[in-house]
Formats: sequence, structure tokens, C-alpha cells
Amino acid sequence: MGSAHHTTSSILIVGGGIAGLATAYHLGRAGARDVHLVEGHAELAGAASARSAAILRTVIEEPTTAALARRSKPHFLSPPEGFGTLLPRRGLVLMANWKEAAEELARLCTSPDYQLEPLDPARLKALAPHIATQPLVAFYSPDDGVIDVAELVRGFAAGARAGGVHIETGARVVGLRKAGGRVVGVQLEDGSERRAERVVLAAGAWAARLAREAGSGIELQPTRRHLLVTEPEPGLDPDWPVVWNGGDTFYSRPEGGGLMLSVCDEVHADPDLVEPLPELARAIAEGAARHLVGVGTGPAARFWVGLRTLTADDRFAVGDDPDVPGLSFAAGLGGHGMSTSFETGRLAAAHLLGKGAAEDLLPALDPARLVRRKRDPSRG
Ligand SMILES: Cc1cc2nc3c(=O)[nH]c(=O)nc-3n(C[C@H](O)[C@H](O)[C@H](O)COP(=O)(O)OP(=O)(O)OC[C@H]3O[C@@H](n4cnc5c(N)ncnc54)[C@H](O)[C@@H]3O)c2cc1C
Repeated sequence: MGSAHHTTSSILIVGGGIAGLATAYHLGRAGARDVHLVEGHAELAGAASARSAAILRTVIEEPTTAALARRSKPHFLSPPEGFGTLLPRRGLVLMANWKEAAEELARLCTSPDYQLEPLDPARLKALAPHIATQPLVAFYSPDDGVIDVAELVRGFAAGARAGGVHIETGARVVGLRKAGGRVVGVQLEDGSERRAERVVLAAGAWAARLAREAGSGIELQPTRRHLLVTEPEPGLDPDWPVVWNGGDTFYSRPEGGGLMLSVCDEVHADPDLVEPLPELARAIAEGAARHLVGVGTGPAARFWVGLRTLTADDRFAVGDDPDVPGLSFAAGLGGHGMSTSFETGRLAAAHLLGKGAAEDLLPALDPARLVRRKRDPSRG
């Protein structure tokens, strides 16, 4: 075994989720040569990227992530060539029913970046008659909404291929190859290798684990979150907006004739051992009973869990590993990978092509800040 692959790529991306595909798309568009993407599963974007709530939310507390989402938004509203409709449903209500959360939400929504329309109770009732919560504040964002994730994935993958990127599925990486202290490629499960001048980990919840084996100290925290979609029911309007309660955290949006619901659970998880937990289905049902009126309390049509990979400061990891030459990241996209995908991919590509110096957001995304250093025993 261990047969070497003949070609050497300039850039090898590990992971065909939204992070890897958006990076590949932008590398292809920028004319990068010899770019290769390997995805472990038979299908692209089958992990976190297939399990999201698909909400475009640009009102985000963390400022760098918020800027990534705001700069991605025009592409959702007016898709680039090669993409179909990306935002088939529009309208997002943000509310808070706790004092601190309400103050924070009002500060954010009325800031110059958003200037959102506050909703009085009558207007809220008209927009979302199924919401039982009496919020302290509520705002309406008419052009956030629901993303067609399948179309987003298709568009990135087709655009990447059109730009010359070679995408290989069913190619699971089991380790990074090093020579002279530098990462020079990857080893696949079947024993073959893919050589590259630079390896980019866009492997979501598995990125830090792969990096660690090559000597990286970058810390990323996979956390689980559950979503439940109720059975279709009469009286439910598919045009109701996404409703996000940032106090007693709960969100809902129409989906498939029912409602998609979440209580925003966030618990650290081993990415290889994640199964839906029945107690979360019960917690979501309790949330629905508190937050909704007349709908959303019927049986579940679908219930699943996905992984949101967080960082210590809620900013993504885009850039080089400070300790392992040849290794870069496009990872740690937390709960905003869809909303931010266009700009995250563009920045990752700019960095990889040596054009990152002009990008104002890249310093805040530098993975070096996420290294957990071993304690120096000589310090006593
Ligand atoms: C429940 C839930 C709700 C969410 N809701 C939203 C939302 O409403 N809006 C939003 O913007 N974002 C949302 N997100 C976040 C969004 O889904 C993620 O940020 C995004 O999908 C992360 O993309 P990724 O490419 O980094 O990871 P992934 O999609 O997990 O992709 C990583 C890929 O790497 C591959 N891989 C891993 N290890 C290897 C290996 N060794 N070899 C080869 N390939 C490998 C995996 O198979 C996978 O395809 C949500 C997430 C969850 C879980």
C-alpha cells in the first residue's frame, strides 16, 4: 500500500462542506492552478452543511462574523452567474423577552450597520400570528430569510469545477503527510497519497483533530445542536418569517408544511459519536408550547442533530497554522457558515493566493490566536 499519487497540487482542500466548496469556488474564479479538493463522503456537503437551519441571518453579535455575513448578503439577494435563486423566502423577526438580551438586541438592530425597523405588537401579530411570546423588543429584517442550501452547494461546486478545481469524493483523509517539518500532502484511507504545496483543512468538526496529529495546537470545539420539523398542519402559512428569540433562546420557521424548531442547545460533542438525544426532542416540544400558539406542537416529521464547530472567541479560523508550515485552515464556522459563505470563501482564497494583506477582516480570523500552548514546566 502507500502508492503515491502522481500529481502534486498547489493547494489541497480537505473537506467538501460549505467552507471547502466556497474556498474552492473563489480559488477557481481567481484563476488558481492545480487546486484539488478531497471529501471523505460519497456526497458533497453531507455533514454540518446538510444539517443547518438554512437561515440567512446577518444580525450577529460578533462583529467580524457579522461583517462576513453582511458582505455575503448581496450574493444571496442577487446571485452571481451560475447560481439559481438562493433566498427563496425572505423575512426575519428578531426578538428578546429578557431585559439584558433585549437591550443588546436593540443596540445591535438600531446600529448604523442595520437600522432595522422596530415592530410594535400589532405589526408583530400581523407578521407572525403564531408567536405567543410577548417580547420586550422586536425588529424586522425584510431581506434576511431562508437559504436554498442545495442550490448554494451546487453553485459553489459547479463554479469550482468550471474554474478548474478537481473535486474528489469518497476520499477520506486519515493523516497529514510531513517532510522536513512541513505538511506536504495527505494520506487517504485507501493507502494512497495526495501531495500538495499547501493543505487547507476545511474539515469542519474534524479539522482540529487532523491538525493536532501533525503537531498543531489549534483548538476548535465541535458542539451539537438539534433541529425538529413538525408534521405538516393546516393553518400554517409557509410565508411566515423566521422568528428568532434571543432571550429565552428559541427559533422557528416554516418548513415542508410544518415548522422547523430549535432551542439552540450548545454542548461540546465528539464528532464521531453524535446521535439525536430524545430529551432534546422533549425540550423543543416544551419550547414550542411556550413560544407558539395554535401550531407547532404536533408530532415530529424529522428530528436531527448537527455539529457547529466553535472557537474560543466566536470568530472563524481562516489562515495559516502558526506552528505547522504548509498547513492552513478554513474552519470554525460555528452557527454562521451558510450566511457568511461567500465572503469566508473569498477571504480564504485571497489568503491562499498571497493576496490577504489588503483584507481588513483576515487579521481577526488568524488561527494563531486559537493555539493552546502547553504550560512551560520551568515556570514552577
Ligand atoms: C443544527 C444546525 C443549525 C445551523 N443553522 C445555521 C443557519 O441557520 N445559518 C447558518 O448560516 N449556519 C447554520 N449552521 C452552521 C453551518 O451549518 C456550519 O457553519 C457549516 O455547515 C460548516 O461548514 P463546514 O464546511 O465548515 O463543515 P461541514 O459541512 O461539516 O464540512 C466538513 C466536511 O469535511 C469532510 N471531512 C471531515 N473529515 C474529513 C477527512 N478526514 N477526510 C475527508 N473529508 C473530511 C466532512 O465529510 C464534511 O463534508 C447550523 C449548523 C447546525 C449544526
